[in-house]
Amino acid sequence: MKDNCKNKKNFLIFFTTGIILAVLYCLFVIPATNKPDAHKVQPDFSPEHLTPVLSWILPAMLIIAVCMILSKGAGRRAGKMMAFGKSSAKVYVKAQTGKTFGDVAGQDEAKEALEEIVDFLHDPEKYAVIGASLPKGALLVGPPGTGKTLLAQAVAGEADVPFFSISGSEFVEMFVGVGAAKVRDLFRQASEKAPCIVFIDEIDAIGKKREGHTGSSDEREQTLNQLLTEMDGFDGKKGVVILAATNRPESLDPALLRPGRFDRRIPAELPDMAGRKAILAVHAKKVKTEPDIDFDAVARATAGASGAELANIVNEAALRAVRSGRNTVTQADLEESVEVVIAGYQRKNAVISPTERKIIACHEIGHALVAAIQKDSAPVHKITIIPRTSGALGYTMQIDEGEKFLMTKEEALARITVLTGGRAAEELVFGTCTSGASNDIEKATQIARAMVTRFGMSEKFGMTALEITNDRYLGGNSSLICSPDTAYEIDIETRNIINQCYENAADILRQNMDKLRRLTDYLLEKETLSGIEFMSIIAEK
Ligand code: ADP
Ligand code: MG
Ligand code: ZN
Repeated sequence: MKDNCKNKKNFLIFFTTGIILAVLYCLFVIPATNKPDAHKVQPDFSPEHLTPVLSWILPAMLIIAVCMILSKGAGRRAGKMMAFGKSSAKVYVKAQTGKTFGDVAGQDEAKEALEEIVDFLHDPEKYAVIGASLPKGALLVGPPGTGKTLLAQAVAGEADVPFFSISGSEFVEMFVGVGAAKVRDLFRQASEKAPCIVFIDEIDAIGKKREGHTGSSDEREQTLNQLLTEMDGFDGKKGVVILAATNRPESLDPALLRPGRFDRRIPAELPDMAGRKAILAVHAKKVKTEPDIDFDAVARATAGASGAELANIVNEAALRAVRSGRNTVTQADLEESVEVVIAGYQRKNAVISPTERKIIACHEIGHALVAAIQKDSAPVHKITIIPRTSGALGYTMQIDEGEKFLMTKEEALARITVLTGGRAAEELVFGTCTSGASNDIEKATQIARAMVTRFGMSEKFGMTALEITNDRYLGGNSSLICSPDTAYEIDIETRNIINQCYENAADILRQNMDKLRRLTDYLLEKETLSGIEFMSIIAEK
């Protein structure tokens, strides 16, 4: 707003000066030069001898005026640029984040490491006596949504010291040198306020590996260099601790990670079962729940979910409770919202023809039967043919009994076999196949390929790494590290694994055709089967 006013003022000055000069020019110069004979229009107060002077003085004045105005504008712009250089780090104190370690569930190792930092800031003497100095920087790494930002906020809430929080992207500027100036300013402020904590979220925005070529990356490199310099520059004993968070640690410049800078790495991994249960409980405290909620069951059904997803599940459950006019969240709400997060909302009004419904039911029972009959498969938890907004027309949910950290070769093969079971059932019953298996095919290929290239589970290649994962925390896109010939053989090997699994699935189903038909009819009638119902029907003779 202020700038706008200034602009207007400048424009007015410029405009009026221009008009005055133009009028003077018309009055004196034009008549004098163009119409020397037209004496009658020449004003009396304009003596002849003035005209040559005016004819060059006026344009000169005009030019000077324009220059002055322009330089004034430039000065203002430069001033603004200096202000750019001031970092926009916000100083957070306890009351503002309002988060404590109590808000962070699970993540015990990360909390322990951070608690040490908080303790150091509270009582540096204890460390000084023995001569220990704390790491200057700690880097929180982990997949998105595992609570890295939350952990940093908790540190801010726990440590009664100023907390500077800034996001890496705030350093990214258009002009070379501005980002670096921001870094300098941030660290100047921080050292004035020491002991204090500086938190740089998503540090990969400025900390990316430097590359050989120059050009567009100049600004980023300067900013990074400044950060490196600043981190070297201050004394660790003074009590400025730098925290940073990223989900792409591989992309960070090695210079950032060397001892003396971010020398401590604090992993925030996806929560295990106990962690998931604790996170659910923390978030469930914020909503009204029935007293008999079984968080264990929900935690078991959400293997691989991040803290943020679990928080979302609780919130979805609360929304569902409101939608159905209740004022407490029930177990059913939570279980349904798990499915909402996995597969989207139910599409109650979707119209699916009877033939297609039959195919879908047969496909799902195919998965479930293979899972139930073969060894090494997780138990079937639920089968449904209610379509979801994710595009799934039905699905079979399997839930492992306990927490799994490893996958045996047999389990990997069993998973592929279950995935091929849907298509196999379609072919056996209807003699044709549909596009409904596309998602299964994708998943099966992923597992089979990983078995060959990363898990060393194929006879042909044994324990050779053929693929490396680039962004481990971001879904792990990977690149092949082998010759084209090997790549070709990998494809063949992958195909062989899947084909073998498909044959196994088809065999299992062929031997249980009556069950397949009976269960398909039952599912068509019921739409949703629980694992218990399903198993009791299989057990019937
Ligand atoms: P990240 O920075 O790792 O991507 P955030 O810290 O922003 O993730 O987490 C997002 C949200 O997820 C948090 O605000 C919180 O509600 C929830 N959350 C994540 N991890 C946890 C946890 N361990 N305990 C409690 N809540 C969590
Ligand atoms: Mg974050
Ligand atoms: Zn399927």
